[in-house]
Amino acid sequence: MSKALRLSEKWFRLALWLVAFVFASFLIGLGGTVVENLPKVEHSYTLEDFIDKDAANTTRAAIRATQETRQAADEKLDQEQLGLNKAQADAASARETFSNWLATRHATQRAEQDPELIARTRELDRLKALERKALARVEAQRQIQLDAQQAEQHAQQELNKLEQAASGKLGWELSSQELRVFGYRLALTLPLLGIAGWLFAKKRKSTWWPFVWGFIYFALFAFFVELVPYLPSYGGYVRYVVGIIITVLVGRYAILALNRYLEKQKLAEALPDVERRKELSYDTALARLAKKVCPGCERPVELTNTTIDYCPHCGICLFDHCGGCSARKSAFSRFCHACGTSARETAGS
Ligand SMILES: [Zn+2]
Ligand SMILES: [Zn+2]
Repeated sequence: MSKALRLSEKWFRLALWLVAFVFASFLIGLGGTVVENLPKVEHSYTLEDFIDKDAANTTRAAIRATQETRQAADEKLDQEQLGLNKAQADAASARETFSNWLATRHATQRAEQDPELIARTRELDRLKALERKALARVEAQRQIQLDAQQAEQHAQQELNKLEQAASGKLGWELSSQELRVFGYRLALTLPLLGIAGWLFAKKRKSTWWPFVWGFIYFALFAFFVELVPYLPSYGGYVRYVVGIIITVLVGRYAILALNRYLEKQKLAEALPDVERRKELSYDTALARLAKKVCPGCERPVELTNTTIDYCPHCGICLFDHCGGCSARKSAFSRFCHACGTSARETAGS
């Protein structure tokens, strides 16, 4: 794109850049819609997809069963504990009554009370036996509770082992899925990037440049938004390697372009003055003069100094004299500013 100097042309160019951006935004919208409507190709995996189902179900059922047993034992234990407390209280109060009675009997020493002594002792023994039975029932529930607890621990350990094995498989599957998703996206965006690269190299200055640039922006957007975030990480290695490769490619392109430009400049500067002037477009020459650089070699020159007619760097003629009125004028202007004689006529004559 040469520098536009005509006022309307400038505005036209701005409008065409706008066309390029609008074109790119519609392409981006279309691309996004296409990607959104693609069938969801990947299943989202969980631990359940990889665990040994039969073994896991058996252990889970075992855990549930032991939990239920434990709960039932807890409730039963509460009841039995209550029973034990009552039996203990009964036995204790009977013992107290008996010892009071015994004290009275010692005092009175009445022999007719002996059968009652025997009956009371029997009653005391019965209560003691009840207390022992209640204690045995409490102990039995405690045993059930402990057994259930230990069985549950074992089952839980078993389940943890199964889950560990499954999580290894899950991790492997997830990373290969990540790679596949990246592959699909690469397959979608790589052709776009290829076309964009070709357009940039060959067509960026063509008549249809607004569409070319629109497409290039679209491809860049697709690359950075649809592809880069899905790069598999592998601990950051892939990202850095891809970054290095892209930097090297871009850097190589820039270095080659610089060398090509310098080569071209060197060849151009070796050509005769008239040839070089022909190679330069009128607008390019004016734009460079406006920046106070030589239109031929782009090095700074003192254009206001009236004694300088030739570029001191490359020798191109900057100022000459009109063939009609001999006024000193820019060698790049098409007509003499003093008399209006065409510069071409005088150059041809
Ligand atoms: Zn020069
Ligand atoms: Zn003139």
